[in-house]
Amino acid sequence: MKMIKFYSSRNLRIVKGEGQYVWDDKGSKYLDLHAGHGVAFLGHNNKTVVEYLERQMSQIMTLTTAFDTPIREEMLRELDKVKTGDLDNVFLLNSGTEAVELALKTARKITGRKKVIAFKNSFHGRTFGSLAVTWNKKYREPFEPLPGPVEFLEFNNVEELKKIDESTGAVIVEPVQGEGGVIPATEEFMKELRRVTQEKGVLLIVDEVQAGFGRTGKVWAHQHFGITPDIMTAGKAIGGGFPVSATFMPDWIAEKLEEGDHGTTYGGNPMAAAAVTASVKVLLENNVPQQAWEKGQMFMRMLKESLSEFKSVREVRGLGLMIGVDLRLNPGKAIKVMQDNGVLSIKAGVTTIRFLAPFMINREDMEWTLNALRKGITETEGKISSS
Ligand SMILES: *Cc1c(COP(=O)(O)O)cnc(C)c1O
Repeated sequence: MKMIKFYSSRNLRIVKGEGQYVWDDKGSKYLDLHAGHGVAFLGHNNKTVVEYLERQMSQIMTLTTAFDTPIREEMLRELDKVKTGDLDNVFLLNSGTEAVELALKTARKITGRKKVIAFKNSFHGRTFGSLAVTWNKKYREPFEPLPGPVEFLEFNNVEELKKIDESTGAVIVEPVQGEGGVIPATEEFMKELRRVTQEKGVLLIVDEVQAGFGRTGKVWAHQHFGITPDIMTAGKAIGGGFPVSATFMPDWIAEKLEEGDHGTTYGGNPMAAAAVTASVKVLLENNVPQQAWEKGQMFMRMLKESLSEFKSVREVRGLGLMIGVDLRLNPGKAIKVMQDNGVLSIKAGVTTIRFLAPFMINREDMEWTLNALRKGITETEGKISSS
């Protein structure tokens, strides 16, 4: 059997992970700023997460939400501690795209309106509904027709928000666009988006799958902007490495959903509940959002200083530990050179190198990154000027 090649191989065989590091089969250590697309934000093999999973595994692994179980009750109590606004209801799924699907279905059911507005450079997942609100044509076009209608507006452009009207059921937005190039929303944009959607009776879905759970310096990235969504999706980091996602909503929406409107075989299974419970504990006990904020500020400052002399660096940007280095050239070569120098990173958009560091990254790790990145950019520039 062979794996279907949806991802080009990084030619690296990883056998172990701990904290911000992973090791290959030859014993070489890597700083992991790829972190499984940001999943390992609490560090690989986080002790508390592993403990909770091991204990749960020895009790019961599968149980649908039709049956009660103590670990899910514990999880709900933990989630209360990271609650945003009036989003008191949660449903667990297995992947980010599924959380988005539930959000989109909910908006359709509640408003009865079909049109959804999304933003240019957005990414919301790969299943038909999520794909329909994802900007990248390369992902979308081979699979059209997709559910719709969907209209894409320019991100961070307040004027564009005038196009949101009463025919729109939902607007879906990332508080920091991840896959699209690490682009933080502006406060003015998010505040106006909240105001307009409220005025027009449009549900605001904030997709926190990548930015959420502490990475940007707040538990939820939208908290930087002083707004509350109508529906919020979360995923990636919320299980500390275990695959789990969630859709959150207030009572007034949840009350209108009925039995059979949605469902899942695995969603909310006891292992996922254990993982989320442990992850919230880790997040709060270690002041993870605060650490992510401080380290992110430091990392971005170091990157800006260290890269100022490079003509091919357009911008260093981000929020907390969600950081992008935007180049004037294809970042593929630089990412490869960084990997050869022991630092794993990931591309975002067309020209951006993305760093999704685990929260325990330290100054030494950051210096390691700067050295590897400088080498990567130097070699890329050299290759271009000599060809
Ligand atoms: C990764 C991502 C998704 C999709 O999550 P999967 O777990 O890959 O399905 C959705 N929205 C955002 C913002 C993401 O970054």
